[in-house]
Amino acid sequence: MSSSPGASESPAVDRPQHGRARPVLNPPASLGVIGSGQLGRMFVQAAQRMGYRAGVLSTTDDAPAAQVAHWTVIGAPDHLPALRALATAAAAVTVEFENVSAPALRWLARRRIVRPGWRTVWTSQNRLREKSFLARNAIPHAPWRPVRTEAEIAPAVQALGLPLILKTASSGYDGKGQVLVTQAAEAAPAWARLGRVACVAEGWVEFAAEVSVVVARGQDGNAVAYPVGWNHHERHILDTTMMPAPVGPIVALEARTLALAVAQALGTVGVLCVEFFLMAEGRLLVNEIAPRPHNSGHLTLEAATVCQFEQQIRALCGLPLGRSDLIMPAAMVNLLGDLWASSEPRWGSALRLDPAVKIHLYGKRAPAPGRKMGHLTVLDPDPQSALARALAARQALQGGHR
Ligand code: AMP
Repeated sequence: MSSSPGASESPAVDRPQHGRARPVLNPPASLGVIGSGQLGRMFVQAAQRMGYRAGVLSTTDDAPAAQVAHWTVIGAPDHLPALRALATAAAAVTVEFENVSAPALRWLARRRIVRPGWRTVWTSQNRLREKSFLARNAIPHAPWRPVRTEAEIAPAVQALGLPLILKTASSGYDGKGQVLVTQAAEAAPAWARLGRVACVAEGWVEFAAEVSVVVARGQDGNAVAYPVGWNHHERHILDTTMMPAPVGPIVALEARTLALAVAQALGTVGVLCVEFFLMAEGRLLVNEIAPRPHNSGHLTLEAATVCQFEQQIRALCGLPLGRSDLIMPAAMVNLLGDLWASSEPRWGSALRLDPAVKIHLYGKRAPAPGRKMGHLTVLDPDPQSALARALAARQALQGGHR
């Protein structure tokens, strides 16, 4: 622990809360987040803005969230002494990534408020469970088959046709743990390359676009959905988001309704993001569920009445949720470590080019290709223009503009 925790300031919640009406957690109660990347950092910053004390469970004390936190517990997220220290430090705990062990969350939930609950995290951290959940709840998604053994490969190819994508059931993110299979004979070697672990085989989807909806759901079951985000990926990593998405009102309503249905069916209290494939004819298929604020929601920091991180805190603390409407359309472009490859980005050039550009950097010291170092946000009455301006600013960082 790097500094003193503040959980003792909230005696009202200093007891197991299982199955009872939970009290509202008022500032300056101490809130904790498991994980300390950029999502944890923005959670901590939003919590502090609202007058809470905020800390992190982190493996290092220099991680993005640990740099700005009131307190840091150093340790692995499933290490009992670290969890014990976290329960001492925080009155309520949330997560910034989905690969937190469900038993650890259950252990914590017997002692502190934990939101989202272990069931939401457990479902979304494993593609087999996630797909089964979607199927059980009749939520449209891409065709898939489980591949847990060699014997399941041929039936999966037979059922889905080619090409298909083999994805490891757990621990995959930003396209990691995925192999495209175009020939039947490639399927078994592809599975071997993924380590012969439990996988999902997913039919290839000829989508027209990728969109996402961030939802917040409170402890009373009330929920709000942000407008639809229009996402572009590069190398499987989110590159840009524009909000609202240039889709018709029926698609927008359908996407937001489906995202709310996911949160409701999971019983989530907190923020989650549903990513979709949008087909040319307007059909939506759920691709992935992230049980936390999402990169495609970062622009809500400036563009929405209440941002996704404040909603995360409100849900965690039992406060009423805020409005999710946009003050103005916006676009976000990610800044990956590749931008640092030849020299320091030209911050001056980008800011001179467009003084309305907002910069977010996450405090990461080691830029690496594909590593999310920060993002830029631009607000503009025309979302396409917001995106064009954000892209131009990013280009200027590389000396592409003068
Ligand atoms: P995922 O990690 O599952 O979100 O996949 C990363 C990216 O790979 C997605 O954003 C898509 O661009 C692409 N992708 C994933 N699954 C499929 C699929 N079944 N068909 C076509 N493209 C896909």
